[in-house]
Order: sequence, then C-alpha cells, then structure tokens
Amino acid sequence: MARYIESVCRICRRENLKLFLKGDRCYSDRCAFDRRGYVPGVHGQRRRSKVSDYGIRLREKQKVKRMYGLLEGQFRGLFKKAEQKRGITGTNLLIFLEGRLDNVVYRLGFANSRTQARQLVRHNHFTVNGKKMDIPSYAVKIGDVIQVREKSRKVRIISDAIETVVRRGIPAWLEVEKEDYKGTVKAYPTREEVTVPIQEQLIVELYSK
Ligand code: SF4
Repeated sequence: MARYIESVCRICRRENLKLFLKGDRCYSDRCAFDRRGYVPGVHGQRRRSKVSDYGIRLREKQKVKRMYGLLEGQFRGLFKKAEQKRGITGTNLLIFLEGRLDNVVYRLGFANSRTQARQLVRHNHFTVNGKKMDIPSYAVKIGDVIQVREKSRKVRIISDAIETVVRRGIPAWLEVEKEDYKGTVKAYPTREEVTVPIQEQLIVELYSK
C-alpha cells in the first residue's frame, strides 16, 4: 500500500502549522515545528516569495490531506462524495473526514495521532457495534459504538493515549466511557465543531477549476 515516506515533521514545517502527526512528541519540546518553524531545505529560512492563488489553494488541500493522512486518490474520492451530497461541499468534506473510523478512534482518545489510530484499526484492536472492524476509512454513523477489544485493552499505546487525551479534549459529538474502553457517535459534527484551522472553500475552488 502506498504511503508517505518523508519525515512527518517536515510536513508541518512545510505547511507552516502544527499538524499533530506524531502523538506525544507534538506536545513536548522535541516538536520540530517549535524548534525550527521554517520551511525545510537549504533555503527554508529565506523569506517566502509571493504565492499564486492556485498555490494557496493547493497548499490548503495538501495540508488537510496530510493532516488526515490520506493519499490523493482517497482525498479526491471523498471530495466527490461531498459534492454529490446535499449541502455545502466544503462542510460535507470536513464531516466525511471527521467521520472516518481512524479519526474517530483518535478523537475518542484511543490513539495519540491519526497515524497511530490507523495502525491500531488495521491491527484489529477495535469493534464497531460489537463486530471486528479493521478498515480505517469506515464511515461511522450516528449511534455507532466503537470499542477497544477485550484482548487489546492492555496494549500500552492505547492505555497511554487514554491517559493523555485530556490535553486535547473529546469533541461534543462523541461520548466516551473510559472504564469500558468505549465511545459512541452521538451526532455528526457541525462545521463549528471541526476546530482545526481549515479553509475548506479553498479546496472546493481548487477542485472546481
Ligand atoms: Fe508536527 Fe508533531 Fe512533528 Fe511537531 S512533533 S512538527 S506537531 S508532527
């Protein structure tokens, strides 16, 4: 399966934003963005030249794609679905991104990053409504119950993540029952509840050209 192979910290530096791709490290003084918050590469510290409108839209799309860890084809596929659904395409896109199982596992605090969440899902550590689910792109529905499997509750990275989730909080559209290693989707997120800094309209404009 294709995947990004460059250092994920370089991605934050290139996008000029902390994307929280490395779990614990992102909250520590080892964060590369905090230490070297300029574009990577030999000329990274030079002033940025003027970026075209196309460049601005492209960067926004790249940022969101990388934030959620999607490849171009997956991202485009989701955008197409967002376009076909009634409502505002940009908002639909964000709701689809937030509703991916790997993101929900991350949001519930069962993983410290989306990358970690994706790996845990693939390794079969979760059930959805009592059935094993190892598809990170699974689109959760209202009422879905996501639970850490009994045999996985001792997995260190899951218990560590549960302990540290307090620093980013659980969104209101999800409900977590820590003792049962369980989370429920109470609603789909509203645009206001997607608090990551995204200008989705730029992505719509990019793909509408
Ligand atoms: Fe980004 Fe986290 Fe790396 Fe900091 S530590 S640069 S937030 S991935």
